[in-house]
Amino acid sequence: MTVEGVFLPSADTEHGIGVHHRVDRPSEAPPAIDANGKKPRNGKKAVEKLEEIPESDPERPLSVRSLALTSDRLGLTAKLDLAEIQGTTAIPVEYRKGKPKRSGEIAEPTDDMMEQPRLLPGPEPWPTDRVQIGLQAILLEEAGYTVSEAYFYYAAERLKLRIVVDEALKREALAELDAAKRDAQGQRPPPLINDPRCPRCSLQPICLPDEINHQRLTALTVNGQAADEQLTPRKLWPPRDDGIHVVLQRDAIRVGVRGQSVRITDKEGELVRDLPLANVESLAVLGGVQISTQALIVFADQEVPVAFLTAAGRLVAMMDPMGPTSAAVRSAQIRILDKPEKALELARAVTVAKIANQRTLLMRNHAILPSGVAADLQASVEAATKATSMDELRGHEGNAAAIYFANFAGMFKQGVQKIAATFNANGRQRRPPPDPVNSVLSFAYSMITNECVAALRLASLEPTIGALHSTRPGRPALALDLVEPFRPLIADSVAVYSVPRRPTRL
Ligand code: SF4
Repeated sequence: MTVEGVFLPSADTEHGIGVHHRVDRPSEAPPAIDANGKKPRNGKKAVEKLEEIPESDPERPLSVRSLALTSDRLGLTAKLDLAEIQGTTAIPVEYRKGKPKRSGEIAEPTDDMMEQPRLLPGPEPWPTDRVQIGLQAILLEEAGYTVSEAYFYYAAERLKLRIVVDEALKREALAELDAAKRDAQGQRPPPLINDPRCPRCSLQPICLPDEINHQRLTALTVNGQAADEQLTPRKLWPPRDDGIHVVLQRDAIRVGVRGQSVRITDKEGELVRDLPLANVESLAVLGGVQISTQALIVFADQEVPVAFLTAAGRLVAMMDPMGPTSAAVRSAQIRILDKPEKALELARAVTVAKIANQRTLLMRNHAILPSGVAADLQASVEAATKATSMDELRGHEGNAAAIYFANFAGMFKQGVQKIAATFNANGRQRRPPPDPVNSVLSFAYSMITNECVAALRLASLEPTIGALHSTRPGRPALALDLVEPFRPLIADSVAVYSVPRRPTRL
């Protein structure tokens, strides 16, 4: 399923791919020909495969995985997970990662006095599953097979469910196909409202049901018409919330991959942590952490970015998997950033966002923000918005940073006056950071920079060619540009809240 041709994976679709792992591999053996040795009538793909059939054992049932069938008459193509073929009989089998529908039939009480009516579980296929299998049966019949039954395998319950393929099922499937074709011709239908399926739907980030419905229903109300549908706020779910960003810094710790697990062991070989590979989003290794070549190959294969940092947290290298990098995207990036007005536009955007975020963080967290600080930062925002050159912009950015860090220690909780006083005396310093607060800031900035380098690489952009930060050998200039708005939001917030506590180390 896609929205206007766009598809996004989610945790559920990735899990589904795992369930289909075997059946999605096309079979090497083709489907059997009919008992008389004739080719089936239609179905081009089936015919292509049928011509290669071994004729030695025509009675042997064949399991054909990932079978694609097309009907020009219906304007339909389907890929069957599995088809069990025997002679001219075919049985489609579909795999589902979830559970079947429970019909909720009422069981007859055996004793009216003692037993309350109860719901029978009654597993049955979901309506969409029925339509899919009905269309597959029609395609198989067009290809010359007889289809009288089909099976679903629901992996969550390890349940194999048989359904009868009859005229009613095929009529239902064709009616849904016609309805889908009608919908596809016009505008896409509006998203569902407050529907429990939306939060975990993989298409949610493209379909945007909450945002579109909010605008739609607001428009109905603004025009003086009563909205006939009620919209209530609903918890928003990210499409994937299960990713783990692993940071390893204990000296001589080892990283390996065994099966579907990332195994972290100490130098004696004792297991420190076992993580599911599918959930690892990124890996950062500091100093003397060891990582095996086999593990690097697996991470590259899974497109998990691996960053190598010095023990102090300075990024020195990143593993760049040989993915489908786009030369067109990179050359467009260079052409755009070569134009001074375009580079200034990008630099202005990230600088303005950074100063605005610094101001917000101070206003939210400072115990007693001196008067004029918020106004001065707002003035810097406005001046940066109108900056006409990169030098002028950097001047406003530096001015705002000076105001911000002069008041930074005022955001610490009470009881850490010594740490605050040391930071106040030092100010913001790097290379090397002279106190705990500067250390946390530098480390956190490095971590977000890694994330931005990885994000840029995934988008086929070149991290070393930036706008606000000039290009120098080994400097991820565009990643540093991208980091700017996130410094106050993520790194500085972590520093403010983590300094009074003892840092934990893996
Ligand atoms: S997000 Fe909701 S409305 Fe949009 S495609 Fe998914 S289930 Fe349908």
